[in-house]
Amino acid sequence: LLSVEGLWKNYRGHSVLRGIDLKVEPHEVVCLIGASGSGKSTLLRCVNLLETVDDGTILLDGEEITDARADPDEVRKRMGIVFQAFNLFPHMTVLDNITLSPRKVHRVGRREAERQARELLDRFGLADKAGAYPDQLSGGQQQRAAIIRALATRPRLMLLDEVTSALDPALVKEVLEIIRELKAGGMTMILTTHEMGFCREIADTVCFLDGGVLLERGTPEQIFTDPRQARTREFVQTVL
Ligand code: ATP
Ligand code: MG
Repeated sequence: LLSVEGLWKNYRGHSVLRGIDLKVEPHEVVCLIGASGSGKSTLLRCVNLLETVDDGTILLDGEEITDARADPDEVRKRMGIVFQAFNLFPHMTVLDNITLSPRKVHRVGRREAERQARELLDRFGLADKAGAYPDQLSGGQQQRAAIIRALATRPRLMLLDEVTSALDPALVKEVLEIIRELKAGGMTMILTTHEMGFCREIADTVCFLDGGVLLERGTPEQIFTDPRQARTREFVQTVL
């Protein structure tokens, strides 16, 4: 579904991604781990074309999206991305937040967009919050609404960057529960998290980034119990 080949990203002469190769199969859940500054967010932002890449290619469904002729807006229609915080528009209700992109970008009619939004809200336990504004929701509810908004465009691929790290521990569970449901529904995802227990449970594949290099990839079992690289071992020992 997604293929990243030889990806380089520099900021002012400093390389933060150094020749990343990453393949993601349909329905696969890939978890990126690595120290702060290792390039996890930058990689997700490159995949979503929020950053220009300095070298290498990214293919989505076989189409090169890093090609200068590719339309970033068209590409982003096929992906949902959710960040750590500040995902919702504060001046809009939850329902309007969720229907905005289907209506404006995907040209879905208001009634149909709202019907689909209410279906998602219902499925993820937020049906009673459709008319609420973001500041009337708990952090966990806001983040669930943000994930629902990303789902409303029926993406091929979800990119989730530390979606629980701004939340109180008590609220983390409900957001992780949504991600579990997405996996059960077969959604293809790339996520970054500092919740190693969750990473271990949810990931099909774990990728360890070290200074912009994808140093090692494997099953959670391999990476957490029998890593091949010393750097990976050091990292998992410090975070487990
Ligand atoms: P964390 O776990 O803290 O979220 P990360 O793995 O997501 O870290 P990135 O945010 O991808 O790390 O950052 C990788 C490197 O790129 C860091 O050294 C960071 O300082 C640098 N960087 C990221 N964004 C920019 C930017 N817009 N301009 C300059 N440097 C940047
Ligand atoms: Mg990050």
